[in-house]
Amino acid sequence: MCDPSAISEGLGLADAQTADRDQGPAPIFEIAKILATEQELEAMLPKFLSSLIETLEAADTGILLLHDPSDGQLTVKGAQGYDFATLSQIRLAPGEAMSGRALQTGQAELYPAPEAIAAVRSNLTPTNRDLFAAATAGLSPPQCVVCVPLVSGETSVGALVLENRRGVSGFVHADLPSLQALADLIAFSIESARLREELQVTRALEEANRLKAELISMLAHEMRTPLTSIKGYSTALLMEEATFSPETQREFLHIVDEECDVLQDLIHDLLESSIIDAGLLKLEPQPVMLPRVAQSVADDIARRTQKHRVLVDFPERFPIVDADPRRIEQVIRNLLDNAFKYSPAGGLVVVRGEVQEREIVISVADQGMGIAPEHLNRLFEKFYRIESGLGRHVVGSGLGLPIARTIVESHGGRIWAESQVGEGSTFYFTLPREGLSQELSTEQEEERQDE
Ligand code: ADP
Repeated sequence: MCDPSAISEGLGLADAQTADRDQGPAPIFEIAKILATEQELEAMLPKFLSSLIETLEAADTGILLLHDPSDGQLTVKGAQGYDFATLSQIRLAPGEAMSGRALQTGQAELYPAPEAIAAVRSNLTPTNRDLFAAATAGLSPPQCVVCVPLVSGETSVGALVLENRRGVSGFVHADLPSLQALADLIAFSIESARLREELQVTRALEEANRLKAELISMLAHEMRTPLTSIKGYSTALLMEEATFSPETQREFLHIVDEECDVLQDLIHDLLESSIIDAGLLKLEPQPVMLPRVAQSVADDIARRTQKHRVLVDFPERFPIVDADPRRIEQVIRNLLDNAFKYSPAGGLVVVRGEVQEREIVISVADQGMGIAPEHLNRLFEKFYRIESGLGRHVVGSGLGLPIARTIVESHGGRIWAESQVGEGSTFYFTLPREGLSQELSTEQEEERQDE
């Protein structure tokens, strides 16, 4: 039983709240502090409990239970002084033990002696009783307990149990109103945090649905354009009544071939992106000579354009890096593809390699349409395309840069863009030098291969 002198002197919460500041902070300030600093429910709950137990002289251990509206039961979400893992398996029905009772009656109760505590816990189910016994093993039995319902407006949020085990300075009846006021504040905070989290989930779902709808309409649009051409030119070639010169036939077939490439690229990007989303991007690192990779991609792409000039500029002694050559080639190809696509008037495209102390930097610079500052960071988001200006007429999936970013970042590098609208853009990516193969100059490597 709680110390009778404590009851007469009122050494429970009533005392803690009126205490001289030097004796420690009032619980209400502590709760307010948690509210000001914690946004997430999971983090808030244990802090509420620990701060109550620290600031309330009468409380030695405690449990915080939340009401699950889906099945009407209470589950333990915070426990101080108990084995939480065991206690969290308990599920209490309304009316079961003191918390179930608080949930049912909406009233704060003081259980002033071990007999009263045993009586109210006597209706625990056998499973809950065993779990409770296991969670409290080794603890001295409580001498007095208060159980306060957590109610916010009309909503039953849960219950708070505070126990005095030492038998001195225990709770008194006079503490109940102040404890209820604290519990109301906690309940309100829990309910607000829950609503905030629900809102976030709803917003995330809405955003996912919006992106899905956008993706489908984007795909339909991007696929329809090349398909319309393929269909038109192949139908024309098949028309019996029309005869085309061999040059025209060849030209039509050329267009069909190009449009098939566009479709192929789109499907390739989609597949790559879903591989990355599924966490299946596997790197197969090996020593890579980046100047060679860059040159061969540049030669390949340059064959497809008359308007652009390409310069590949790497210092002579460029370190060999450990990287997945296929993936790094893919990054350079994506950046070069964009440099050509988004500089429709042509111009110079420069692929440059630089060696810095800790990393190597590869850049791809064009003299194209450029990118406004507000888009620069967003370009690396999935499906992000600049839908204004000249670029909106260029076919694309909005997946090339996010794919490049994932590849670069999984190599331990960074990727970013700098640009001036109307003057051109430069895309940079880095690869770390740390842990890379021993530095062999391009010359040395070539000599070695020639041998
Ligand atoms: P896309 O398949 O649309 O080209 P990316 O992810 O490669 O997809 O690029 C995303 C967007 O970034 C493009 O739609 C374009 O608006 C912009 N962009 C990318 N590279 C350049 C560039 N070199 N110059 C101007 N805009 C660019």
